[in-house]
Order: sequence, then structure tokens, then C-alpha cells
Amino acid sequence: MGLHSNRLPLQNPANGVGFRANLGTGHPGYKDFALAPPARCRGSTGSRDLPCTVPGVVVVTGTVQKQAWEDKVMPPVEQVRPGLWSIPVPIPDNPLRYVLVYALELAGGGVALVDAGWDTGQAWEALTSGLTAAGGSISDVEAVLVTHIHPDHYGLAGRVREASGAWIGLHPDDAVMLESRYGDTDALLVAMFHFLSDSGVPDEKLPDLAFASMVLKSMVTMAQPDVLFEDQKEIDLPGWDLRTIWTPGHSPGHVCFHSPDRRLLLSGDHILPRITPNISVHAQQFPNPLGDYLESLAKVRDLVTDEVLPAHEYRFADLGSRIDEITAHHADRLDEIVQAVTEHPGSNAWEITLRLHWSRPWDDIEPFMQRQANGETLAHCVLLELHGRVQRNGDSPALFFLSEH
Ligand SMILES: [Zn+2]
Ligand SMILES: [Zn+2]
Repeated sequence: MGLHSNRLPLQNPANGVGFRANLGTGHPGYKDFALAPPARCRGSTGSRDLPCTVPGVVVVTGTVQKQAWEDKVMPPVEQVRPGLWSIPVPIPDNPLRYVLVYALELAGGGVALVDAGWDTGQAWEALTSGLTAAGGSISDVEAVLVTHIHPDHYGLAGRVREASGAWIGLHPDDAVMLESRYGDTDALLVAMFHFLSDSGVPDEKLPDLAFASMVLKSMVTMAQPDVLFEDQKEIDLPGWDLRTIWTPGHSPGHVCFHSPDRRLLLSGDHILPRITPNISVHAQQFPNPLGDYLESLAKVRDLVTDEVLPAHEYRFADLGSRIDEITAHHADRLDEIVQAVTEHPGSNAWEITLRLHWSRPWDDIEPFMQRQANGETLAHCVLLELHGRVQRNGDSPALFFLSEH
């Protein structure tokens, strides 16, 4: 294929060589959620393999949103609290259907947005008309606080800035990836071919999987941030006490926003009520994204929070219980991978992925989501290596075995 320069081995994080050194190449990680693996019953049936029929622990506060989700329609613009609005912005051809943009009215006038939506005409229309329904307009926007680099959150930020003069805020670990994802992506595609090949993806699947996200590049207005959101940054928004909480995992620079006074957590994609965000190893991730993600869950678990405002699905309460549920899900997934490696020692990541349970039959899953599933398997394998439960042999492809020690 002539693409064997600039190779990206599936490095073992334990050897000190991290993916972070490869910033500037790698895959764009466009869509957020590969799959929602079936929930498993823990302690209820004693079986790991039965789909869980016990209702989740989430206490839904966005009941209108939840009903709309079940009815497969867009939820309405809602006033969540005085001066705080939820505006659903559609995502084209995606099972997530919409991103929830939050509009925060500022003391003295003006509005700040948390996330922005895709850069499509339909999304722009939804955002601008949503602001009108909330009693404002796009020209009122003074700030766009972006939780992370994915296009359903960041895609429209540049266009909002052009229309209103707003400043854009993003974490530096996501900002550093903008050019390679949304500017010149040639190196990224080459890296993706190698990365997938080194995962064990068969040659005939490589083009589909490697190019799967490129069409989405057109749905982003390239815009560098004006403000970098370091961890624990007090954001200058009149009338608000928002603080950034850096929560790497879903993306290296993902941030949540917490308001202690209002007891609210705007969680982006870090914590959602129904599904878990995609946590993938890839060339632009830190070496151990699942470990980072689990730490990031623990980091926000005890924040004083009455309600969680996520970027997808619907609002909910009882943050700690949802975090415990997600943590348990990943523990189950780790066990499932150990089981797969026990039964088929010497499997590569792709082969392990094919043996796991997914929410749909594998052949019904589109290439991009298959790619994310593969990355998610790798994220679990890396954590298992660090826990000393599995080990790898080689790197092209890497083969996984139960650990000998
Ligand atoms: Zn995302
Ligand atoms: Zn998202």
C-alpha cells in the first residue's frame, strides 16, 4: 500500500513510550459513541452474560427530554433554571440525534454557550432559533465554552464567533489537535491505516475503516480557541461561578463545568445517563485513556451537584450512582476481555473485538463504529496490561495473552 513510513506501533504504556509523542497524526475520533454495550446485571442474576433487565440507577430530571428520546423526536428548548436554557441541536445521521447546547444568561446582558453543535445549516438554524425562543439572539453570544474537540460540540463554535464576536474556550490538550484533525489530515490518514493494521484489522477492511470519518470534516468550521481552559479554571462569566474540571478520557482535553452555587455539573460527554462515551486508544490519545477516564470519573464523583446537564440524551440527578454504574460497566468489560483472551490466547485487538458483546450484530455496525469498537477494546487491553492481567507479544499486530506473572 506504500504507506509504511511513519509507523505507529501499538505501544505498551508500561515501557514509557506514549502516544502523546505522536500528536499531529492519528485519527479524528469524530463520532462520540461507538456502541452502548449491553448493560450487565451485577449481583442480580449471577450471570455476566445476561442482558441486564434491572432498571438503571439514574434519576431522570429531564423528563420531557426522556419522553422525546423514547418518542424519537427532538426535545423542546427548555428553561432549566432561571437564566439557563437547554437547546437541542440536531446531529445528522447519528443515533445520538442531538447535542444539548446550554445557554447561560450573563449578569448585565449577553449569553454564554456551553458547546455549539455541528456546522450544518440545520444545526445553525436550531441554535439560532433556540436562542430566539430563549429570548435572545445569536448576536448576544459572548462566549462559547467547548467541552471537547468533537465536531458535535466544537463544529459550530467558529461560526458563532464570526456572527457575534464571542470568545471560544477549549482545553489545550484538545486545542493542540485541531490542525491535524480539521486542517491538513493527510498524515492522520496514513497513521490511521497503520494503526488499524497494527490492531489486526484485515487488509480488505482497512480503507473503509480508515476513511470512515473524513466526510465529517466538512461539518466543522476550523477555529482556534481564544481562551485555554486549564484544570480548575474560574471562568470569567458575570453572574456565574463556573469552574473547569479537566476530565481526560473521552478526549485528552475534555472538560466539565461545575457551578458550586447552583449545584450543577455540565458534564459534556464525560457522563451521560444511558450510554457510556467511547474511550479509545488511538494516535492522539494519552497512552492509557481508560485509566484516565476512570480517574476522571472519580474526580467529579463527590462534587456538590443536584443535577447533571449532559451534552446528549437527558438531564439526571444522583451523579455518584451513575458514576458507580459506569465504573462497574468497565469492570465487567475488562473481565469479558480477560475471558476472551483466556479462551483464545494470542488474539489481536480486532479479533478480541469481534468476540465481545455489542449492542447490535457486528455486521450491522457501520465502519466508523467498528473502528471505535476496536479502539475501545485496545483501551481495555492497555489497562489490563497495566493491571498485570494480560500481556502482549509483538506490535504488528500486537497479540494478547494472559499475563504469566
Ligand atoms: Zn465526544
Ligand atoms: Zn458528543
